[in-house]
Amino acid sequence: MARSGGAPVLIVGGGIGGLATALALARRGREVHVLEKAAQFGEIGAGLQLAPNASHALAQLGILDLLAPYAVRPRRIVWRDARSGNLVTELDLGARFQERYGYPYLVMHRGDLLDVLLAACRAEGRIVLESGRTVIDVEERDAGVRIYTADGAAFDGVACVAADGLWSKLRALVHADGDPIPARYVAYRGTFPVSALWDGAGLEDVTLWTGHGLHLVQYPIRGGELFNQVAVFRSDRFRADSDDWGTPDELDARFAGGCAPVLAGIERIGRERRWTMYDREPIGCWTRGRLALLGDAAHPMLQYLAQGACQALEDAVVLAHALDAAEDEPSGFLAYQQQRYLRTARVQYSARLFGEIWHVNEVGATLRDAMLARRAPDDFTHLEWLYGWRPPSNVRGTARLPRIFRG
Ligand SMILES: Cc1cc2nc3c(=O)[nH]c(=O)nc-3n(C[C@H](O)[C@H](O)[C@H](O)COP(=O)(O)OP(=O)(O)OC[C@H]3O[C@@H](n4cnc5c(N)ncnc54)[C@H](O)[C@@H]3O)c2cc1C
Repeated sequence: MARSGGAPVLIVGGGIGGLATALALARRGREVHVLEKAAQFGEIGAGLQLAPNASHALAQLGILDLLAPYAVRPRRIVWRDARSGNLVTELDLGARFQERYGYPYLVMHRGDLLDVLLAACRAEGRIVLESGRTVIDVEERDAGVRIYTADGAAFDGVACVAADGLWSKLRALVHADGDPIPARYVAYRGTFPVSALWDGAGLEDVTLWTGHGLHLVQYPIRGGELFNQVAVFRSDRFRADSDDWGTPDELDARFAGGCAPVLAGIERIGRERRWTMYDREPIGCWTRGRLALLGDAAHPMLQYLAQGACQALEDAVVLAHALDAAEDEPSGFLAYQQQRYLRTARVQYSARLFGEIWHVNEVGATLRDAMLARRAPDDFTHLEWLYGWRPPSNVRGTARLPRIFRG
């Protein structure tokens, strides 16, 4: 049901998922109105890994080439033991990888991705972007929806996409499963200029250091100008009713036994803010009538596969195509849900599993490392399902790989 003009699709949340959806819908002729609660559109945090399934979705959205000045194409993902520094295994992201998946593995500043999405949305005449609007309720009426915001305003639309993130207010209207589940892990993250790097830091790679109940991820971003780090650990002081856990002193204590490059990284990581880790059990119901969930609102996951934003981008592409192909919005939303929920459930469960494998105790790690020792860097067996994603055949459009990312 491709359409031009008409009442807008209302999108709640202007994060990566919300803006990607706005763009995907507008490019298919839909009017869109995005309502974001923050005073300005923007992203906090630091780096983002975008696997080929995400770069394919970005190509579908027509913005992959615009990311080229900001994105870095790492050579490898290198997994090392945080204590000994020994190599566990590595993934070669070079020619064979590129040939296999057709799209690149990218790392970049999440603010740069959001800025490119925002500029593309602003260039679309069909998208209205409003910040400073906190949505508090959605009501279905006849052949449309009405959204209410905290400042007393109301907005009418033909349908509503809730892309309001992990703490989604609107999720409960579709599936009331309470608060997200705390993982008892906390993350510190930040960037600094590469000029402040220590000798031997892997500037061409994504490096993952793992230990018992902790890990550190490092990679360059912003065209190689900045070095990004995420340090994650399980807090022994976790209490659901308190904020006094996962504190900077615990960060230092947990990583104290690390090898020299890990200690150098932890010393430079920002301590002003920490992110507590949550996910949810996967659900099969993402939609009620003219309301559909998208991104973290639908399938929040632990970040261990670096796929939360990648899945939100896939959602955006599939949702726009599904609405296009359907008789009306409720059936378009149902088709979208059917095409997405099992895949994202697999990613949610696999992310938990990867966390277990990374964070296992030292005896477990010895066994794990022995099993992985003979794995070839170009063995993609366990990645096929994840990185090899293509939109279902009924939603395929043209997505040429921009010249800048070829070869
Ligand atoms: C430490 C860490 C590292 C990560 N690394 C990666 C990675 O490398 N690769 C990857 O793909 N993913 C990664 N992720 C996951 C990724 O950040 C998220 O999955 C992604 O940002 C989700 O996007 P979203 O648009 O669904 O939600 P969000 O980014 O949370 O956006 C939701 C938006 O909705 C707005 N909002 C909320 N409530 C309302 C309301 N009531 N009214 C109006 N607006 C509202 C918010 O202000 C926000 O702007 C990581 C996550 C963490 C914590």
